Amino acid sequence: MTRVYLDHNASAPLRPEAAEAMTSAMALRGNPSSVHGEGRQMRAVVERARIDVAELAGCDPASVVFTSGATEANAMAMKASAGPVAAAGIEHPSILENIGDLRAIACLPEGRIDLAALESLLDEDRDIAAVALMAANNETGVVQPVAEAAGLCRAAGVRLHVDAVQQAGKDGLADIWAHCDSMSVTAHKIGGPTGSGALIVRDPGAWPALIAGGGQEQRVRAGTENVSGIAGFGAAARSAALEADGWAEVRDRRDRLEAAMRARAPELRIVGGGAPRLPNTLCAAVPGIPSDLMTMRLDLAGIAVSAGSACSSGKVAASPVLSAMGVEPEIAGSAIRVSQGLYTTGQDIDRFLAAWSETVSAKSRAA
Ligand code: PLP
Repeated sequence: MTRVYLDHNASAPLRPEAAEAMTSAMALRGNPSSVHGEGRQMRAVVERARIDVAELAGCDPASVVFTSGATEANAMAMKASAGPVAAAGIEHPSILENIGDLRAIACLPEGRIDLAALESLLDEDRDIAAVALMAANNETGVVQPVAEAAGLCRAAGVRLHVDAVQQAGKDGLADIWAHCDSMSVTAHKIGGPTGSGALIVRDPGAWPALIAGGGQEQRVRAGTENVSGIAGFGAAARSAALEADGWAEVRDRRDRLEAAMRARAPELRIVGGGAPRLPNTLCAAVPGIPSDLMTMRLDLAGIAVSAGSACSSGKVAASPVLSAMGVEPEIAGSAIRVSQGLYTTGQDIDRFLAAWSETVSAKSRAA
């Protein structure tokens, strides 16, 4: 039986056009920094991709600094800060674990940051040099009030970095880029390869290099570029930009799924359900059914979803994102994330619902 993949927020399948662009790039030879014909051909591949990624990000191509992914881009942005950085507990670990001096932003139960708390924090703590805020959360899909936070940052004279990884391709990034100083994106969430991403910076000349040792990427990120990975990123960005209208249908399917799940389990909790969310993401919990049990049962039925909890050393710990939202441990420990892609079908969702309902019914029978 074919498997059903509903874990696009972890990594989207590689698009055929991205694979093709990578294969073509791998057939070339040379170093993109060399001035001979071979080098110039490699350079052309990198610069073509830079234009495509810039188009997706709504920025100038000169603002795109290619990296090994969003983890590196986020780390660069955090380590470049000249002072304390304010961030909420819902941020990705590549933000939180790279901040030297963290000032916590409170989070509302619905999963959005508390803007009033951010305003007070910036007012009271004049040492804060930057704020990090994700455009949308990877676990809950909750979309953050970037424009409003940017207004507060501007008023306080503080830089704003936005992790736009999950928003990319689903909604225009131009509106976000208009409000922030730096932004991170990654290829593998939009159908490009893993290990290829970018930090978008307004003024690369003024940006400190985290990795020094070469003049590549406008001296912001040394190292010979990953040309095939960049080519795949560019091809994926081009396709993602063309397909942005398709997400309305995904949203409808997600909302219908949510209603069908609630009809079968009235005790269902949708984490972040009261907030604006990405169209493809559903974080759902049935109290009493641990997320690892549910994901395992679904996996055995041929369906891939993620647990909304982190597993370490054999113990399932509550997800830091859900903890930061104040979600009760019982709900956090039961949360699963169902994340669709543009090519998820109604049949995929039917298969998920059937397998999920079976586990829910088994629990009711056991009760
Ligand atoms: N930021 C967010 C919100 C993510 O979801 C991820 C990936 O899971 C990352 C950053 C890290 O991206 P990468 O896998 O490219 O390092």
